[in-house]
Amino acid sequence: MELATHTTTTAAEAFDDAAVAVVPTGSVEQHGPALPLGTDLYAATAVAESVADRDDVVLAPPIPVGASGHHRQFHGTLSVTPETFEDYAHDVVASLAEHGVRKAVFANGHGGNTDALTRAARRLRERDVAFATPWNWWSNLEGLEAELFDVDGITHADAMETSMMLHLTEHVREDALEDAEAGAAEGWGEGVHGAPVGFDAIDFSESGAVGHPTKGNAEAGEALFEKATSELGALVDWLGAQSFADLRPEGHR
Ligand SMILES: [Zn+2]
Repeated sequence: MELATHTTTTAAEAFDDAAVAVVPTGSVEQHGPALPLGTDLYAATAVAESVADRDDVVLAPPIPVGASGHHRQFHGTLSVTPETFEDYAHDVVASLAEHGVRKAVFANGHGGNTDALTRAARRLRERDVAFATPWNWWSNLEGLEAELFDVDGITHADAMETSMMLHLTEHVREDALEDAEAGAAEGWGEGVHGAPVGFDAIDFSESGAVGHPTKGNAEAGEALFEKATSELGALVDWLGAQSFADLRPEGHR
């Protein structure tokens, strides 16, 4: 069920069957000259919507703006502090728990959110409020990215994100992909003798992109989307079958 479409009356009934909440989390941040600012939001929302029709799922509305301070020098980037984001994500799941849905997946589209979501999930479990798990749409592609692009994992505004956006939206400026790639960094970050010396994208990427955006294509995007949605469906199946008690450590207390 998609929570925002319900009334309080119909939600009360729908919550009876619901076992797992899915909370999409995104970002609104620079993705170079070719991809939309909402890339991570669009990807997370689309993947999460694949489970919207399940009776055992409560699909929450997305949390759009994430922790994107490392992109702030580029036009259009919005950001909240990791602490604000952590508290907000925590509180959304805590409100779902008040209605009896105490297991949740953060369906995340922005790597910069992961640490804050993990801290929110720890707090929710430590305080016996809920069990939540942070899951990125690219978490378990099982080598698909290597097969498609000969890369190991996702970076930023790269071939994978370009592909997802070509498959899911009309917002890719395809004539800017060459510029994105010309000014792209080879990899994320910058180091000297093993010490990180570049903390923001602008330190190492002229265009804001990383990797090879020109290799992105809609067919690859469809394959990535199919894999991500099938993994989310399987994760929700698993989480739905767990008892809340089993998701907490026994401990000596
Ligand atoms: Zn992104």
